[in-house]
Amino acid sequence: MGDPLERRYGVLGWPVGHSRSPAMMRAAGLERYQRLPVAPDVLADTVCALGGAGFRGANVTIPHKQAALALADTASDAAREIGAANTLTFADDGSIAAENTDAPGLLAALGDTPPATALVLGAGGSARAAVWALTRAGTDVSVWNRTPQRARALGVRVVERPGPAELLVNCTSVGLEPSSTDLEQLALDADGLSAYRTVVDLVYRAGGTPLIAEAARRGLHTVDGLEILVRQGALSFTLWTGLPAPLQTMRAGVADP
Ligand code: NAP
Repeated sequence: MGDPLERRYGVLGWPVGHSRSPAMMRAAGLERYQRLPVAPDVLADTVCALGGAGFRGANVTIPHKQAALALADTASDAAREIGAANTLTFADDGSIAAENTDAPGLLAALGDTPPATALVLGAGGSARAAVWALTRAGTDVSVWNRTPQRARALGVRVVERPGPAELLVNCTSVGLEPSSTDLEQLALDADGLSAYRTVVDLVYRAGGTPLIAEAARRGLHTVDGLEILVRQGALSFTLWTGLPAPLQTMRAGVADP
């Protein structure tokens, strides 16, 4: 295989110009990690060619996570049960392995003791990974989504309004374009945030998100989308290289892309 740090890596997405993964992974030592902007209609051909082009691995982001899983020869239980892959590994024999590090990355960001109760906001791909991870960790999980019928497919309790829990996780895209109605769009009010001990926002953007700002103002423990990105990236890094991930260096890399 050669030195894994010398191999090629990338992040597959469409668009992918906003991704901070290249800055983070290059800081970690994967100097040949690049953006791979790939339209859905050429994803299969591209993925099948990456191994032959010297790639050891690729991260996968919107909108390719489900398709990436389908293209892989083997998949971990996490990727298969979540129905999405965010990490592909290209073996020397030409085979492709799929993994989902979003799920364990969230748990790693929460520390050693998983919360007893959690409310997940959203019902898309990242919500599915969060529900899978937390449920497996023994947390009692509820889901709120703007479109409740989508939430029912996640297989846990669906709530009409966000209620109290130890952990609140925003897995919607609200916050990407911050506005004064962000909390309203999530059926939350700022004072009601005190019903949570920890607030996680998967969304990341320059300047931070209103949800994390409001939670921090109330003295709650917060985990922002950049830390979630670092944690899932750290697990991909170790999977590809067999080396411990340099978390602090990766945090510095995402903060200063
Ligand atoms: P997705 O599959 O497209 O799901 C989007 C979710 O957001 C749906 O539940 C949707 O609700 C909800 N939503 C969208 N606009 C809304 C609004 N105005 N009000 C209320 N709910 C709204 O997306 P995803 O893949 O789960 O990703 C969600 C976010 O997490 C993205 O911003 C992504 O960048 C971020 N993310 C970050 C990381 C990280 O490493 N930090 C990893 C994964 C994802 P409906 O069902 O009602 O449409």
